[in-house]
Amino acid sequence: MIADVVIVGAGLAGIACARRLVGQGMSVVLFDKGRKPGGRLSTRRAGEMTFDHGAPFFTALDDGFAKVVESWAQAGWVSRWRGRFVSVEPQGREDWSIEPWVGVPTMSALPRGLAEGLEVRAPLRIASIEAEEDGWRLIDEDGEPVGTASTVIVNTPAGQAAPLLHGGLQAQAVAAGDAMDPCWTVMVVPTEPWDPGFDAARYRQGALSHVTAQSTKPGRDEAAGWVLHASGAWTRAHWDDAAEAVVEALCDAAGIPQAHAFAKAHRWRYARAREGVEGACLWDVDARMGACGDWCGGPGLEGAWRSGEAMAAHLLR
Ligand SMILES: Cc1cc2nc3c(=O)[nH]c(=O)nc-3n(C[C@H](O)[C@H](O)[C@H](O)COP(=O)(O)OP(=O)(O)OC[C@H]3O[C@@H](n4cnc5c(N)ncnc54)[C@H](O)[C@@H]3O)c2cc1C
Repeated sequence: MIADVVIVGAGLAGIACARRLVGQGMSVVLFDKGRKPGGRLSTRRAGEMTFDHGAPFFTALDDGFAKVVESWAQAGWVSRWRGRFVSVEPQGREDWSIEPWVGVPTMSALPRGLAEGLEVRAPLRIASIEAEEDGWRLIDEDGEPVGTASTVIVNTPAGQAAPLLHGGLQAQAVAAGDAMDPCWTVMVVPTEPWDPGFDAARYRQGALSHVTAQSTKPGRDEAAGWVLHASGAWTRAHWDDAAEAVVEALCDAAGIPQAHAFAKAHRWRYARAREGVEGACLWDVDARMGACGDWCGGPGLEGAWRSGEAMAAHLLR
């Protein structure tokens, strides 16, 4: 046994779960296929420029989560983003009264800070989890066993969790996979500075879901970069489009001139969860296997954190 608990996926939910368990004296190993922990809280670098091309910001609506976020701010991992926020409604543009937070100096700084001191083995993709007499054996993509544990938690998006989970948990993950939206994302620096009169906009219809400025977020560089997120419906309809065509279409939808100093498109198969499950996580007490993530806890960072905490609470019970 390599640890009391093995967690597949070091996204925010897996990290939340691991921190709680380690805090209670349990040994935990996390595996992640990415180079570093954080999953969809990720930042793409291009020379000196950075783009938060996963979650561009987050909110803390629940009082308990707001307190957690305040502690992250005190640790220097997040900061409030004070900017101009608008909601683009069918009838026109309105003020959008939100109080967003961002990781500093990048979104990826938050999971890196939170994962400090945790044992994360990465990059390592788990291809399957096989039942053993007294637990689980984890197999990597070369077919090699990488460890055994009596308890395994899967913290990956639902569609990636389904092939790893067993029994009823697998069926629930298959069903939940449809409730996650994909997202074409464009990172762009227009040749001429572009000021649409907002720093972040959400769109209620059309190709876009969000448009966010990089430069006015706290702790960023001066480069006038923008991140454009397409809606789930638009992404589904344009999934096989060429990246150049997606850059052109989304810049067009946002009103960004087509002359770019930098432009790149990224395709997220699983971006945003639309709902969670009852109890915010899945747990099979007999098999000692569970699942957590935003698709269990509800949309966004808040849901992912809630799910990781709920998962840990089951294990500590
Ligand atoms: C484009 C986009 C826009 C978003 N916008 C917002 C927003 O505005 N506000 C907000 O709050 N949230 C937003 N989100 C959602 C937010 O990022 C997620 O809710 C949150 O980060 C989910 O965390 P998680 O731990 O559930 O999963 P993830 O972050 O997906 O973590 C799962 C981890 O599992 C790893 N993994 C997967 N398969 C394997 C495997 N087989 N073996 C090993 N490791 C594996 C992955 O590498 C990843 O690190 C957005 C996300 C995207 C992509």
